Amino acid sequence: MKIEQVKVTVFTYTSNTVHDSDGHQHPGDPHDSGQALITITDDEGNSGHAFGAPESLRPHVIENYVKKVLLGEDPMDREKLWLGLARWQRGSGTQLTDRALASVELALWDLAGNALKTPVWKLLGGYRDRVPAYGSTMCGDEMPNGLSTPDDYGKFAEWLINRGYKAIKLHTWMPPVSWAPSVEMDIAACAAVREAVGPGVPLMLDANHWYSRTEAYELGLGIQKLNYYWFEEPMDEHSVSSYRWLAENLDIPILGPEYAEGKFHTRAEWIAGGVCDIARTGVMDVGGIGPSMKIAHLAESFNMDAEIHGGGSGNLAVLGAISNSRWYERGLLHPFVDFDQPPAYLNSIVDEMDSDGDIRMPMTPGLGEDINFDYIKSATVSEH
Ligand code: MG
Repeated sequence: MKIEQVKVTVFTYTSNTVHDSDGHQHPGDPHDSGQALITITDDEGNSGHAFGAPESLRPHVIENYVKKVLLGEDPMDREKLWLGLARWQRGSGTQLTDRALASVELALWDLAGNALKTPVWKLLGGYRDRVPAYGSTMCGDEMPNGLSTPDDYGKFAEWLINRGYKAIKLHTWMPPVSWAPSVEMDIAACAAVREAVGPGVPLMLDANHWYSRTEAYELGLGIQKLNYYWFEEPMDEHSVSSYRWLAENLDIPILGPEYAEGKFHTRAEWIAGGVCDIARTGVMDVGGIGPSMKIAHLAESFNMDAEIHGGGSGNLAVLGAISNSRWYERGLLHPFVDFDQPPAYLNSIVDEMDSDGDIRMPMTPGLGEDINFDYIKSATVSEH
């Protein structure tokens, strides 16, 4: 098998979410949004697909790095190809991102699964055919009846429990919300949700990312009293000492790192150094499925859970193949957004949730994405 073609198709679809000036997602009026599909094809007619942002898979990145490493190589040599790309990152002057690596690696996994007629989670070494989801809310906003008050969070939590979720994670208010961040309001929202769902439901908080140590400590104490299950990213993750200090001073488990660069190297320092109680990885954060598996297994070796950041087919495949993770992150959810409605470029979503609050692992070959190729063809803007 030899890789013959790497192709990126950029297309548009109608999105009903927008990003604010700090990058947080909220409901918005329907508008055109760009998406990219990377397709890797070999000389035996096998192909694999993955989605990514058009800017991370732009022509410069594909021509100068991805094609140079992949073309003519065996698509099954994922570790060799991934390392080839990862070592290009330094010389690329930040042009070749972890997200680009992830999309390329996901497409290689999809190709392997398609060629072997096996779901990727089984190729990785299957552990379970379903995983419980937690409902992960969008960040707070200032929309009436949206997520603008603690009471809004409480009402939405009730709706999520009725929908079948067995656990909930809040993202609270972050700038540019006029009065955010606020430790007091964060605790009020967490209390309203605990009150709404009762004592037995696991709850988690993903706090503002830039609190000080004392603010993070005060917030952590507050949600510890409310019996929250984990405390995520209250401070800038680049300060490892701050997280070690927080983990030492609070009883509630500290989860991380999520956005810190450095892939498994950074996570190894957190896991071995007592910086977190629960490790964090996600395929788009660390460059793909392979590095996520390394992190999950490293955490497992330290009797530590590794919770997976974000949803999607790649993260679901990892969850199907590891035992030390409790939940699939389903979202981001908001009272004004119908998460179960597939975007136009998919025939169905990969993470449909049943009434038990479980996501079933796909049984179709590859990553299990149900792609609407006719739609993508009709909405193509460019190809490279
Ligand atoms: Mg997070």
